[in-house]
Amino acid sequence: MDAALLAKLVAELLVSIQLLAGFDLPSEPPEVVFVPHGLLQEKACSGPCEVYGWFPPGRTIYLDDRLDPVRDIAARGILVHELVHYLQQEAGTFPASGGCRTWLERERQAYDIQIRWHAKQASVTGARVRMQRRPWKLTCSEDPAPNLPPRAPRTRQAGSASQ
Ligand SMILES: [Zn+2]
Repeated sequence: MDAALLAKLVAELLVSIQLLAGFDLPSEPPEVVFVPHGLLQEKACSGPCEVYGWFPPGRTIYLDDRLDPVRDIAARGILVHELVHYLQQEAGTFPASGGCRTWLERERQAYDIQIRWHAKQASVTGARVRMQRRPWKLTCSEDPAPNLPPRAPRTRQAGSASQ
């Protein structure tokens, strides 16, 4: 991966996200580090899962080392998703210590922008990408809505959120 091309791409994508979603540009861009899939699974899911990118709080985005966001548009979309998480952090959009619902809102926004970014690419270049994960299926099983009475006894919900 050419570091200069990658840095240029990150700068361009930050501007695209700013135009799409109105985030301020960050004072400095995050670092993008490529790591083996196994390490991402361990860090992001503590076990086997379909994870390609991970952004723990800080300044580093981790991407699966099989991805080439400079040449591949689907990989670029994954980088867009992780950059949104970086911008969310920089903007303080969501509380850092929020529970599952905060996590869910953060993911929904990142997926929403990723989908809109792909739609924009499709309208410009005709390149269409099918999203691997379906964000509308994400749920929180342990965090009922505040206005609903608590359910007892507690049952496990199918389709609980991963990663
Ligand atoms: Zn995410």
